[in-house]
Amino acid sequence: MTPDIQRPLPDRNPISAPFWERADQRVLALPWCKKCDQTHFPPSPRCPYCLHDAFEWRPVSGRATLVSWVVFHRAYWDGVAAELPYNVCQVELEEGPRLISNLVGAAKEAPRHGMALKVTFTDRYPDITLPVFDAA
Ligand SMILES: [Zn+2]
Repeated sequence: MTPDIQRPLPDRNPISAPFWERADQRVLALPWCKKCDQTHFPPSPRCPYCLHDAFEWRPVSGRATLVSWVVFHRAYWDGVAAELPYNVCQVELEEGPRLISNLVGAAKEAPRHGMALKVTFTDRYPDITLPVFDAA
């Protein structure tokens, strides 16, 4: 994969590929450990709870709460200049793990700490579908 110097985008590597393949199908999924049945994010080669190395990817509800966010008013990469101001948020999924993402729609217009969110997906970029969050 050629690095995009215009805008940083997630890297598809062997560990994260199952996440991005499902996102391309507009499915938010997490890895569940086949030994202790706990989930975590980001994907890792070993379960952070029991160190087992086999996972089952399961779709999740897509429901989350807003933990934190920041609004950027300066383009640190040329590729985001047209999107200013843009936000970066941290959400806590109903299943527990937290994701870094972007707010869209009503959540982007009026974010509130702890607000209920739902996942949606953006096809804004040609090579990757990103899960983003809107008000539930
Ligand atoms: Zn485990």
